[in-house]
Amino acid sequence: MYALQVSTRERCELVDITKRVEDIVRKAGVSEGVCHVFVPHTTAAIIINENADPSVCADILSSLERLVPAHALYTHSEGNSDAHVKAAVIGSSREVFVRGGRLALGRWQGLFFCEFDGPREREVWVEIR
Ligand code: ZN
Repeated sequence: MYALQVSTRERCELVDITKRVEDIVRKAGVSEGVCHVFVPHTTAAIIINENADPSVCADILSSLERLVPAHALYTHSEGNSDAHVKAAVIGSSREVFVRGGRLALGRWQGLFFCEFDGPREREVWVEIR
């Protein structure tokens, strides 16, 4: 298993990790298989979406904020309940096929680390089988 370090800068942010995961796939030397990408955090997630136009990431974050506002009635005492809910809705992992030693993503797709309670030092675990 490989561990990627991700330093986030905002409370909520999408960080494009596509190239870093592709580097891991290349180094692993696996030509056909599945790449598992997992986040070992309860207030962060992994998403696959468009990496061509950055306004898509902004729209995803603003839409999540409307669905799960930071300031609403929650019972969790840490004050980051919205981050837990957003992470639960998006999910902790994604899988991408590996074909010809590369990530088999669609033309406009990228892998993003989703920070919902930053800024923090985070990890992403990558396993290729
Ligand atoms: Zn919490």
